[in-house]
Formats: sequence, C-alpha cells, structure tokens
Amino acid sequence: MSVTAARRPASENVNRIGLEIASYKGAKSTLCAGCGHNSISQRIIECFFEMGVAPWQVAKFSGIGCSSKSPAYFLSQAHGFNGVHGRAPALGTGAILANHKLIGLVTSGDGDTASIGLGNFMHMLRRNVPMVYIIENNGVYGLTKGQFSATADVGSKLKTGVVNDLPPIDCCLMGIELGASLVARSFSGDKNQLKAVLKAAIAHRGLSVLDVISPCTTFNDHDGSTKSYSYMKEHDLPLHELDFVPFFEEIEVDIAEGEVREVELHDGSKLRLKKLDRDYDPTSKLGAVQAIHQAAERGEVLTGILYVNSSARTLIDMLNLGDEPLSTLPESKVRPPKEALDQIMEELR
Ligand code: SF4
Repeated sequence: MSVTAARRPASENVNRIGLEIASYKGAKSTLCAGCGHNSISQRIIECFFEMGVAPWQVAKFSGIGCSSKSPAYFLSQAHGFNGVHGRAPALGTGAILANHKLIGLVTSGDGDTASIGLGNFMHMLRRNVPMVYIIENNGVYGLTKGQFSATADVGSKLKTGVVNDLPPIDCCLMGIELGASLVARSFSGDKNQLKAVLKAAIAHRGLSVLDVISPCTTFNDHDGSTKSYSYMKEHDLPLHELDFVPFFEEIEVDIAEGEVREVELHDGSKLRLKKLDRDYDPTSKLGAVQAIHQAAERGEVLTGILYVNSSARTLIDMLNLGDEPLSTLPESKVRPPKEALDQIMEELR
C-alpha cells in the first residue's frame, strides 16, 4: 500500500494534489439520522482529502448490512465492489493481489464480519492482506430490525428487554492473534481519535483492522445497551492521545522526552502515542491481548492503537509478487509460451 503524489497545497481549499474536498464525497446518505456509520464516512472523506490520496487510487469493498451501504457515501471516484454477505475480505484479497498499488478499504459490520463472514475474516487476518478493514460495530443487525450480533456483550439488552446471554467475539483480539499487523479500536463519536487511527491505517503497509463502536440510533442506543453513545461516553478508556504526522510534514510538536512513543510507518509517516495515565506498548502482542482482557473484565472499552507491527510480512511479500501489479503486466509476461506449457505437460505424463 502506498500513498503517492507530492504537490503542495495551492490554497487552503485544495490538498497537496490540488483536489477540493468535494472530490472525496459520495452520494447523500440514506442511513438513519445520528447513525454512527455516517460519522465514520465523514472521517474517511476528511482523512483521504487531508492525506492527499487520489480517490481513484482507492478500491472500496463491502458485503451486506447498513455498514456495507456506506461506501456509496464517500469517495465516489474510487473503484468499488459491493459483494454478498461477509465476502468483502475475499473480494479485497483478490483485487489487491491483482493490483497492490491500490489502497484497499473495506467497510463491514459486526454481523457481516463476526457471523456469516467469520471464515473470510480469519483467512484475511492470517494473510495480512495489505488493506484497511473497518468494522462498524453496533452489536446488532440494523438492516433486519435489531437482532443481537456476535459482538453483543453478555448482559446487553435490546429495546424489547431481551437480554443477550452469549459471550461476544472480540474482533480485535482475533485480529492480533491471527496476524493483522495494525489493530485499533475507536468510537464513531470521537472525531480526533478516529481520524488519527484511520490515517495510520491508510499509511500502514499491511492489514489494519479497525473496530469502531458505531451506535445504531434506531435499534441499540438505549439504557442497557453496551454499544450506545451514553455507554461509550462513560466507559471509553483511551490508551493514549494519538497524533498522526504524514511523511510530507515536518514534526514540530514540542513534547518532553519520555511522554511520547513514536512508531514509524513504512512510508515514513509517524504515529505519535502520547502517554495518558498508564504505560502501554502497542508493539507487544501479549501486552495488547492482556490489556483487552483486563479492560473487558472491568467493563471498560479500551480505545486507541492496540497493536502495531510495521515490519510484518504482507501477503504480497509472502507470494514474492514483484513491484509491478499483475493487472498491468504485459501478456508476454503473464502467459507462458507454448514450449513452457509443453514441458509442464511432458513432466506430468
Ligand atoms: Fe444506522 Fe441502525 Fe439505522 Fe442501520 S438501522 S442505518 S445501523 S441507525
């Protein structure tokens, strides 16, 4: 995954590649008023605009659900494929293998990812497919009237009073364990944190899994829900204050030694993690898993960059694909000559 182009802004209204923010918008949202997914779409628009990534350098993928309608509402000039339920990881993997110069971006939901799409999700994780995978997590199936999904917490209540008795799947824990190289949790209502996390994910070379708590105002934003705006405001425990400094900007922030941890991403961008009231090392897999479990036991929701490994091998490395995308290689390189095919046939006799 790479972020290219180097022109500087011509004015405050255009970014460093000369585009206005209008070039990053999509159709008008048809989701419910106040739906967290609308905030996430807006942050996606702002991040790609501010980073100066050309929208046609992005390929959007989704499955089924309210979250999977979101790609219609941002980056209308990007490539896009709305597939069947839970299959966005397979679509994205195929497209990125064909052209790894594109920035793959999946918007999925908790139902799409953690139930019908779980097999696809797990194999994308173990392959560290270089793309950004956003789970717009509200704990319910919004599109089919608010049944619990597999990420609903034990004890969480529906509006009807039905209580969830089953333990949740934690997509961040799964991501860390199975091979995603950047894993973060955020909240659609925390604009600054979500933007920093999204920018880091876009600049990261490898699979970024972002589990974003995104309340469903119609079916799961009441007392008793653990995915509501009020629950998140009371139980959100940010691990650090996040700054993302793109490679084309100089670092001018004046912060005393020892209070900041800096992680360099592969394109030279910097992720600055300012310590809050605890020491946290986002490069430790074991530490991340332990911290998530401990927070869950206390009923808290840890947010921020939970885990990052900026040197992990991606699927592109594992398959030894060259720099030139398969989709642009000439036929003379991708189609073996008759003699080579004859030799293979001979060997198989
Ligand atoms: Fe958003 Fe819920 Fe409405 Fe779907 S039903 S658009 S998730 S608020």
